[in-house]
Amino acid sequence: MVNPEIEKRKTFAIISHPDAGKTTLTEKFLLFGGAINTAGAVKRNKANQSNTSDFMEIEKQRGISVATSVMGFEYKGKRINILDTPGHKDFAEDTYRTLSAVDSVILVVDSVKGVEEQTEKLMEVCRMRNTPVIVFINKMDREGKDSFDLLDEIESKLAISVCPLSWPIGQGHTFKGVYNIYDNQLNLFEPDKSKVTEPVIKVNDLSDELLKEFLQPKELGKLKDDLELTDGIYGQLDKEMYLEGLLAPVFFGSAINNFGIRELLDTFIDVAPSPRSREAEQRVVLANDKAFTGFVFKIHANLDPNHRDRIAFLRICSGKFERNKFFYHTRLNKKLKFSNPMDFMANEKSLVEEAWPGDVVGLYDSGNFKIGDTLTEGEQLQFKGIPSFSPEIFKEVENRDPLKTKQLEKGIQQLTEEGVAQLFIQQPGNRKIIGTVGELQFEVISFRLEHEYGAKCGFRMLTFKRSSWITAKDKKNLQEIMQRRAANIGYDKEGNPVFLADNDWALNLAKRDFPEVEFHKTSEFS
Ligand code: GDP
Repeated sequence: MVNPEIEKRKTFAIISHPDAGKTTLTEKFLLFGGAINTAGAVKRNKANQSNTSDFMEIEKQRGISVATSVMGFEYKGKRINILDTPGHKDFAEDTYRTLSAVDSVILVVDSVKGVEEQTEKLMEVCRMRNTPVIVFINKMDREGKDSFDLLDEIESKLAISVCPLSWPIGQGHTFKGVYNIYDNQLNLFEPDKSKVTEPVIKVNDLSDELLKEFLQPKELGKLKDDLELTDGIYGQLDKEMYLEGLLAPVFFGSAINNFGIRELLDTFIDVAPSPRSREAEQRVVLANDKAFTGFVFKIHANLDPNHRDRIAFLRICSGKFERNKFFYHTRLNKKLKFSNPMDFMANEKSLVEEAWPGDVVGLYDSGNFKIGDTLTEGEQLQFKGIPSFSPEIFKEVENRDPLKTKQLEKGIQQLTEEGVAQLFIQQPGNRKIIGTVGELQFEVISFRLEHEYGAKCGFRMLTFKRSSWITAKDKKNLQEIMQRRAANIGYDKEGNPVFLADNDWALNLAKRDFPEVEFHKTSEFS
């Protein structure tokens, strides 16, 4: 029996390289869902890109991202949960983790810039979990790249097949609209930032006389040629392949002009998966399982330094979550109940009495949770798929106020539990090495250590740029690399050995010198 509460839920994230239009698209979705009334209501969730030392921006970013961490709304009988991801590239790890809590994604690509660096990284993370992807090619009102070239670029750079479901007529100043291949209709473009719907002309097929009223013969001729080509190259949408994460349906539009959004949203609710089964170390958990399970994928610090409370974001995987019911924290081996779980509908927070698979609830936490923690009704379970990723910048922590050593230790432990950065310990001397994806995190860390914990620290840049978790079938081989390359070995928060290298070349050399040792890009390997 399929639970209708699960069937109606669609939990996803909108991802993009900064500035491609993620925030704009999110806002338009919320407008359609009736969750907000005006454009401009979704705050730009990003720190100033050029001024990394602007702490006010960081603080704003942290404050705002609580409110917009999850945006839920109802649309056509479905409950849509959009999980927000930070716009700034330095917070990419946050985004990677959020992707562990979604069932699918919409990837926004800028038609002028094409596939950008961050797009490639995000897709790599999607591929790790076979997350279904829909692509929205945005900014068609600007003079961008050729549509066929864009599709080629997506296929080659993102290693995924594509299937266009709409096709643009013109581009930039000649942009006339899109032909919806899925529904056989012509959507006419009118540049207007405030309107909610575009004129839609329903036709039988491309030979419909009606098309001639709206398109010049040249435009219609090109559209027919293009569609014949796309049909030959890409064919029909294979939904199974989409659900397996192998094929991405593609739409063209202009988020700022609210163009192409409704068809994107309608197709999304039609094809995107409802909550699916998930792998735990012990077994596969089905969304339909009766017993409640969920995991924490994000922890948010409270902005008020007088309250050390944090909010842990729990994704529900199976069963029903209930307020004031005891659940089992599998890592701590203890029962916890939550009297104030939070639900998020657009910009509003409210108390939640019950929640279902696909939903995200915010739990007030005084230090019980780490990222990846699992809650159940008593079963010993640990969800997979929430790994740590290899950081790119490594710095050693220097204590600048020896009287506050304890505070420093505690602060670093808590901040790394929140997932702000990763901590590696190097011996001898218990050296603390912080690894991050971006420079901005170091500023966040020293700012927060000082303001929330009263500790002062500096950072000494290290030459490491890569880290690989290492394992070996025979313990002897692991010991050998750890002894011979001691200067390159650190331990992560679970005590697992990690090989730190200056660059890819050095890493490859180590792989060659120690062929019996396995090197892993993330902390999760099985
Ligand atoms: P994000 O960083 O991916 O969240 O991108 P934003 O949604 O903040 O958009 C970045 C910039 O692109 C903003 O200035 C938007 O107004 C602009 N933008 C978004 N969509 C469109 C579009 O369809 N056409 C044009 N010309 N600009 C757009």
